[in-house]
Amino acid sequence: MDKYEVVIGLEVHAQLNTRSKVFCGCANRYGDPANTLTCPICLGMPGTLPVLNEEVISSAIRTGLALDCSIRPYSRTARKNYFYPDLPKGYQISQFNDPICYDGHLTIETETGVKKTIGITRIHIEEDAGKSMHGLGEGTSIDFNRCGVPLIEIVSEPDMRSAFEAYAYLTKLKQILKYLNVSNCNMEEGSLRCDANVSLRLVGAKELGTKTEVKNMNSFKAVEKALAYEINRQRQVLDAGERVHAVTLLWNDATEEAVLMRSKEEAHDYRYFPEPDLVPISVSTEKIGAIRDQLPELPEARSLRFKTEYALNDEVVSILIAEVEFANYFEATVRAGALPKSAASWVTSEVLRLLKEGEYELASFPISPAKLCDLLNQIDDGKISNQAAKKVFEWMLGNNTSSVLEIINELGLAQINDEDALGLYIAEVIAENPDEVRKYREGKKQLLGFFVGKVMQKSGGSANPKSVGELVRSSLENA
Ligand code: ADP
Ligand code: ZN
Ligand code: MG
Repeated sequence: MDKYEVVIGLEVHAQLNTRSKVFCGCANRYGDPANTLTCPICLGMPGTLPVLNEEVISSAIRTGLALDCSIRPYSRTARKNYFYPDLPKGYQISQFNDPICYDGHLTIETETGVKKTIGITRIHIEEDAGKSMHGLGEGTSIDFNRCGVPLIEIVSEPDMRSAFEAYAYLTKLKQILKYLNVSNCNMEEGSLRCDANVSLRLVGAKELGTKTEVKNMNSFKAVEKALAYEINRQRQVLDAGERVHAVTLLWNDATEEAVLMRSKEEAHDYRYFPEPDLVPISVSTEKIGAIRDQLPELPEARSLRFKTEYALNDEVVSILIAEVEFANYFEATVRAGALPKSAASWVTSEVLRLLKEGEYELASFPISPAKLCDLLNQIDDGKISNQAAKKVFEWMLGNNTSSVLEIINELGLAQINDEDALGLYIAEVIAENPDEVRKYREGKKQLLGFFVGKVMQKSGGSANPKSVGELVRSSLENA
């Protein structure tokens, strides 16, 4: 038994995918040429005034409701003051006391598969700063496109007890944000960012230990690694009888080390004060009710429904619901008329394989659910073999104008069920393999597969293996 207990709390920033920024009409988009999505408001020119985007409030409330938070009918924005070149105003508009959402929770599964509830302390809205780019030329370049992009910050309670739990929390949180369609959650593009707070204490101790904060991880795996690294470091410090200092560390993914960024003494004093240019945010009970009514089906509910409505097992369902687009694709295939079992198995094997290889994305996947449904029905009706269906599938990836039937005919893949045609192949195979025929007749029944294989070969894969099996058996046994 370990003498230390690990304590982790996470602060997650998610960029909201609203059309415009939080306080001005500039487009909220990633990847445009630097400094083309700006205006006097988001550049912080003197004399300009912010106007709060209603969509930002709705997105924050949607998230809050999905995470079982209470929603404040009346909350304030606050100025968080600091100097940095990518922050032309010299402050970020954020929320300090009384954030819009508070006291929520999220359920994860621990290493041992046990369900565990992680508290959500608060969710508040905030504006993003610009982006400094080092090493592009001499000095530092700055892109202000990101200034004023809306963020929500989701702060957890210090309820996680291992790097694994932190990873599970992030995975679950991202899944929910994607189901809600409030953020793209793309860590490489910075639309999801995580700061990890971690401390150790002796097992049984009441007080929390001194925490450190690790920043700058650009994937969930990196968060997990950074935490494992920092847990190990703190353990060594404590084992040596020393104190852990409250510091902020930066994770370096290349060297897999966390390096000191600043100590607590150097921490900013943000001099928060109520934002004088904005009226308080007031949210009526009706508005909260309306947002609640429009919440989409969330992963847990969808998982339950997939199990009962489609009689699928837990493992398949958890793959299907992991990503909302994937669950939607599967369900659209079933709604088009495919058997749920067939759709689930094809989607979690063939479609998932292609997505994992990285050449395709579901958003632009060339095979529509309706087309996939046509293909699956051909298999289920015994018209083509599974092998042949894979060829049709490959073909459809590069050509989405022909119908499934046209492709089957064009590729000559229609399954031969016709006894006369199969009879000819079978007669040939029997004639060509006298030894095996003798052994079969002497009782070596497992040779059936050998004959079926030979007949399949002769038919170029287009025979129906089930019919072949039955016909071969009767030919061998009745002769
Ligand atoms: P700070 O004032 O340093 O920002 P907060 O109390 O606001 O600290 O907490 C920030 C995050 O750190 C939260 O997610 C919280 O759960 C987590 N946290 C707070 N104390 C600890 C601790 N002793 N060990 C690990 N995490 C902690
Ligand atoms: Zn602007
Ligand atoms: Mg804090």
